Amino acid sequence: MSKQLNFGAGPCILPQEVFEEASKAVLNFNGLSILEISHRSPDFVAVMDEAIALVKKSLNVPEGYAVMFLQGGASLGFLISAMNMARKHKKAAYIDTGVWSAKAIKEAVNAGLEVDIIASSKADGYKSIPNIDTIDGDYDFVHYTSNNTIYGTQFKKAIDSKIPVVCDMSSDIFSKEINVADFDIIYAGAQKNLGPAGATLYIVKESILGQSSIPMPSYLNLKTHFEKDSMFNTPPVFSIYTSMLNLRYLLKTGGVAAIEKVNQAKADLLYTEIDANPLFMGNVNIKDRSNMNVTFVLTHEELTDEFNAAWKKANIVGLKGHRSAGGFRASMYNALPLSSVEVLVQTMKEFTAEHISKINKK
Ligand SMILES: *Cc1c(COP(=O)(O)O)cnc(C)c1O
Repeated sequence: MSKQLNFGAGPCILPQEVFEEASKAVLNFNGLSILEISHRSPDFVAVMDEAIALVKKSLNVPEGYAVMFLQGGASLGFLISAMNMARKHKKAAYIDTGVWSAKAIKEAVNAGLEVDIIASSKADGYKSIPNIDTIDGDYDFVHYTSNNTIYGTQFKKAIDSKIPVVCDMSSDIFSKEINVADFDIIYAGAQKNLGPAGATLYIVKESILGQSSIPMPSYLNLKTHFEKDSMFNTPPVFSIYTSMLNLRYLLKTGGVAAIEKVNQAKADLLYTEIDANPLFMGNVNIKDRSNMNVTFVLTHEELTDEFNAAWKKANIVGLKGHRSAGGFRASMYNALPLSSVEVLVQTMKEFTAEHISKINKK
């Protein structure tokens, strides 16, 4: 079967070269399968060291920041970040941009913190990113989700804050340049833009480690993992290995600055078509549109079955919107080539050429 064009929101597409190299290591990685080697073997320790070094290189991680690979996904990151940032106020500020922020808020409450939602786009159905002034106040930290994977909204720049900042970057990390020094904790599940599911990336300001004001179970304490170089327990070896390969590929092809340009070109191409094509309409505020997850609807919902058939025929998969948002969602992570977006745009043009006359007659 020919390879399909994967617009799915996650687990995501990775470069073909990375799939091939990873698959070779499943069969033979220095005489054993990557799936059977000891995580304490020098061969894997070298993989972990390189993965961490490549994260630091690709995001220009400054001195005083630690990079760690844990497990539990961003879903455990909601709890881990809140627990590790709890201080004397035991109170945190959260920005609510939809489902993922709501889950983060729930875990902060589970950690025993008081949560103030200081900004929210709930009133407009999460079709925007709220306007936010400089954040300050009697909070231990502020938390936000840089890209809302479900609604297709994205913060175009880091928030301005006088208090420590925690950010869930699961669906846009490595897609554009960031200034790591703006953050105290960044966390991201690997499976959107980094590698296979299993590993969760943490980039943490070292000075926050061990400062929590609440009881900390060993696994949830980032200091535990820092002191054990991400080897406190058996790490997800294959996920970290493949993430490392993907980061090598990213750097070889120009790094984050280069892929940011490609991602912008892909987004411009698709949004231009959505805005020009009378049968389609974007879901969110133009200035808050995500370059990673493009959400849109048909202006004539009765054509849904026909459009679904058209993109499936074009060998596209994963275009269906999230069950809580409906419509369509084109996820365009780093590894999705511009050529796949061209196929989608062409499919939309042909679909409209075929159906517009029938609509106009109604
Ligand atoms: C996918 C996603 C999550 C959940 O990640 P898991 O690794 O499955 O726990 C959290 N936040 C954002 C923004 C996501 O896109």
